[in-house]
Amino acid sequence: MKKQYLSYQETIDLLSKAMEKYPNLIRMQSIGDTHEGRPIMMVTVSQDVAYADLKPALLYTGTIHAREWIGIELAVNFIQHLLDNYPSNPDVVEALTRNTLYMVPCLNPDGFEYSRQHFSFWRKNRRDNGDGTFGVDLNRNFGINFRQSKDTRSNIYGGPEAFSEPETQAIKRFVESHDNIRIALDYHSQGNVFFPAHKFNHEAEIEGTDLNILCANMANEIHKVTKRQYGIHRGKPPANLIHGSGREYYYDRGILSSVVEVGSRNIPDYLINMSQSVDENIPALLYALGTAINYSDLAPKRPENFTIKDVSANQAVLCWDHQSEDDGCYYQVYRSESPKHHCTRENLIAITSQNEYTDKQLKSGHRYYYNLRKVDRVSRIKSPFAPELKIKTNLEKDEFAFTLFPNPEQAGYVGELTKAHNAEHFGNNSLFIGVNKTKGICYGVIDFNIDRIPSDAIIKDAVFSLYPMNRVGAKIENYGEWSVSILNPDDISDITNFDEIQAATPLQTLGNAIDSDQLTQGIWKNWRFSAMEKQLVQDQLEKGRLLLRIQGPDHLPLCNDSQMMQFDIGYGRFGGGIHYRPCLDLIYTRRPYHVALAATDCHTISRNEPQQGVLQCGFDEHGDTVFGQMAFSLSCISDAKDIVITQAYFAIESESLPEEAQPMRFTVEIAELENPDYDSVKQREKIEFLGYEVSSEDLAKTPRQLYMFDSSARQHLEQFHSERKTVNLIIRATSSSRQKQALVNWHSLDSEQRPELVIEYIERRKQPLETPQNLQATLQDGLVKLAWDHVEEDDFVGFYVVRNCFHPPRSPFDGVKLYAGKDGYTFDRFGNANIPKYYSVFSYDNVPNYSVPATLKFSADEVTPVVYDEFEAQDEIEKRYRNGD
Ligand SMILES: [Zn+2]
Repeated sequence: MKKQYLSYQETIDLLSKAMEKYPNLIRMQSIGDTHEGRPIMMVTVSQDVAYADLKPALLYTGTIHAREWIGIELAVNFIQHLLDNYPSNPDVVEALTRNTLYMVPCLNPDGFEYSRQHFSFWRKNRRDNGDGTFGVDLNRNFGINFRQSKDTRSNIYGGPEAFSEPETQAIKRFVESHDNIRIALDYHSQGNVFFPAHKFNHEAEIEGTDLNILCANMANEIHKVTKRQYGIHRGKPPANLIHGSGREYYYDRGILSSVVEVGSRNIPDYLINMSQSVDENIPALLYALGTAINYSDLAPKRPENFTIKDVSANQAVLCWDHQSEDDGCYYQVYRSESPKHHCTRENLIAITSQNEYTDKQLKSGHRYYYNLRKVDRVSRIKSPFAPELKIKTNLEKDEFAFTLFPNPEQAGYVGELTKAHNAEHFGNNSLFIGVNKTKGICYGVIDFNIDRIPSDAIIKDAVFSLYPMNRVGAKIENYGEWSVSILNPDDISDITNFDEIQAATPLQTLGNAIDSDQLTQGIWKNWRFSAMEKQLVQDQLEKGRLLLRIQGPDHLPLCNDSQMMQFDIGYGRFGGGIHYRPCLDLIYTRRPYHVALAATDCHTISRNEPQQGVLQCGFDEHGDTVFGQMAFSLSCISDAKDIVITQAYFAIESESLPEEAQPMRFTVEIAELENPDYDSVKQREKIEFLGYEVSSEDLAKTPRQLYMFDSSARQHLEQFHSERKTVNLIIRATSSSRQKQALVNWHSLDSEQRPELVIEYIERRKQPLETPQNLQATLQDGLVKLAWDHVEEDDFVGFYVVRNCFHPPRSPFDGVKLYAGKDGYTFDRFGNANIPKYYSVFSYDNVPNYSVPATLKFSADEVTPVVYDEFEAQDEIEKRYRNGD
């Protein structure tokens, strides 16, 4: 018997003593009696506990499953922490001044005592089922999605009917008489993961963001203590969700609710890490207690219509509604680069009273997740979060993007003890990676076809992503790491052969291995390739394959049976579908074409007659400027419409410098020029300077000089090209003192050192396609059917359809993807047609560039197109300005 744990009676005694010592802070009452007559104790902690029921509250329930002792242990420790730190710790004082903690340390006292004294693996309560079996799984006995079953022996037998048990009745009575409960946390073991509540449908819920952030912020507090990373996993609705659980019962009543699975083992044999698990959860609980008020009637309302106005390769303009009742509030904007991220000071990017924010300095082709809440200036009470906004920035002009998924026969795992079946694992089972007693050592294998990437691609960014779906088999804390290796496909004749996969010598193992305590479930794991690793991907382009092996620990410490992680492959019976498939995101550019253009014509232009074929600049005998002019034709560069100039420079070489001249500096500019004569040059339209000025000293040392085009100058070059205009470059000298008869001679057209315009370019479509026209929504057999007209353009690749329940999706990534393909229609197969929502349809090319979307708002009785007006805000401002406001 492990004496370190308190018995139920010892817990009650300890709390009774605490109540005597802190009568204003803590109160204890019984909320019902169990089958065996034990009182179900509810502890209330709040400053001036007599008024506790008037404050927003956190409800804690522990040990509803008898063997999951962490619930009661953590409860006692958390109460002790509050009492020890009141009033010395201001965070504790603030949490308890504004909020109330309701805590049932053990919701299953009979089962807990049975587990402690007789059979540690006991889970249910101790109802006598009358057939020789005992127990109801209390967490299957609540009224939401309750399932009738006659299998009384089952460990998850839910009881004869919903709320048949005194324990669930007691908590039901309490919750129904306490509307101040805003957050409910149900503590279980094991898994180091949060399981937020569900509403059993495929629609995003308005509270979905709040739930994820609540869990993420708690996970962040845990991480601060032990560096352990808790997962956040909402499961895939509506299948695979449990029946009759407390979590959904609370959530159904409008309470933010989550299960917290603590530790890596669920029975009381995990003493080694018990104190770690308790300690790391205390700050998380304090955070949750302190934030209950932000979800109460006292809080400002959730901001509405949080959306994007515009997005480019490097910035995003976010906007939201501002109502007059928000005048006493400001907004907090948070940005993260992964979903289910915390919102803390660390990623708070703006505090503003405006209803718009422009986020600059973003990376191209990257995903960003934005969160927004209001804060009352005076009370500092915060609002719930607006539904999360997801964007992917556009690609830079020279970039292409490609997301690769493996085919079913290219994704699977090979096990040491499952050799006869390894081939069947491909496209079928999840990836089991690590080691356990039944499968032995297991490797994940993913074989990407990369032959669709052009062989001249230059990889700029590569990220491999895997979705961890279950970490229950990883039972040992702080043991082992998981990593990804690139294998040479030529070394492997059969990717389903364990021995070959095990024996392969990796070309490279990606830099960042994941430690066991960083393994989460429900949060994508990404491996971003380093420069050297990207080079390896590039080297594989010729072979057309990128073969990855994922490996975990390969042996078990004594007395352990499993350290195995399960990742989704998105195929097979247990797979979550395409959204959960392993993937490789590549951003690349292509090796450019290179042309060196000689000038077609040049002049020296001064007050005198222009001299054709001679190239000089400086000052004439009167001290007036002499210009050198060169004309270039871009006609040999084909396909003006779809090329991107990636680099350009102008090279010019001096023949002789004037002696005894004062120092001069030489500048080169692109100009619009009517004629190569003095008047035209004087009146020229200066378009852009190139590169840096060159001094006469530089020129004396290095006669050949390069003037680089910056991005804006390159755009002008593209413009000239598309308008089939001649490019005129003017070179001239400046000087600090007036000079006479100081001329530089430049090598001219017929010289070997003639001036050149050097251009590098790639072929790539720049403009997105047309917006799909005539988007319509109709109801067909209870499903929303969307239809639109085809886009008639050569570069058309497909349509991309997205749904968002809260705001019009202006980025293809801001919502649930419904369809990508060439058809002119799709059905929303999982959406609930009774809930109003927005649909956007984008067309895209092979870059891909996405068009401005066609968007509509659908509700069962009305379908309204959404018209985007990009410049509305500016127009408004101008109008007011013109009106003299
Ligand atoms: Zn449990």
